[in-house]
Amino acid sequence: MKIYISADIEGVCGSTHWDECDNEKPDWTEFKKQMTAEVAAACKGAMAAGAKEIVVQDAHGTGRNITAKELPDGVKLIRGWSGHPNAMVQELDNTFDALMFVGYHSRAGSSGNPLAHTMRGSYVDYLKINEHYASEFLLHGLLAATMNVPVAFLAGDDELCKHVKNINKNITTVAVKEGIGDSTLNLHPKAAIEKIWQGAESALKSDLSKCILPKYDKYEVELRFKKHQQAYDASFYPGCKLIEPQTITFQTKDYFEVMRMMKFAV
Ligand SMILES: [Zn+2]
Repeated sequence: MKIYISADIEGVCGSTHWDECDNEKPDWTEFKKQMTAEVAAACKGAMAAGAKEIVVQDAHGTGRNITAKELPDGVKLIRGWSGHPNAMVQELDNTFDALMFVGYHSRAGSSGNPLAHTMRGSYVDYLKINEHYASEFLLHGLLAATMNVPVAFLAGDDELCKHVKNINKNITTVAVKEGIGDSTLNLHPKAAIEKIWQGAESALKSDLSKCILPKYDKYEVELRFKKHQQAYDASFYPGCKLIEPQTITFQTKDYFEVMRMMKFAV
């Protein structure tokens, strides 16, 4: 079994403030350790379920948060950003048996996490894909579906876990925290690690064929920006239409074009 794990930091146990996610701030050190420990737990769970090959993408900020030597032997780690439009799942392809998300967070425009955002936080007010308000989980999960790769598991905040179940109830989720206004209510960090280990193992022992996200004939994207200037600028990307001062739409039959648009318009 070959597994891809995409990891972020705003959905790990404890992280509550942007200083804790910023590699230039001292508060970050504790949460990069928690991110590493949660990813290591997901790897160990996956290996217990029979994974022979695991690729992890460090998909937060600089892409240089996870301490590689803390991951189990044999795990491969993607650090930094290649510039590929597939963004947080850059080397994913149809040779993988499952995709897992660790440290993922609620979307822009939701109240599930003080750090809620979708891709570039200073730009995206909300993103909608075919009537679903889209989180980073949905954006990348729909891409995985076009490669027939199921989403087996997600760990993150409670509201995101509910969103995941709403999209596909067969995906295993572990909520490590709940956002309340500008605060978070967290599991003990060790309990979060334990639950992720067990959740990842049981997820990969389940029927993964039921965990593929929907594929659509056509993708209709609505993207509202924080500022009208950003929407005007993005409206010149081929296929984008400015429908309101802060909002563009984009339509395509090929989901990769959604990823490409996000790379250049956001
Ligand atoms: Zn992040």
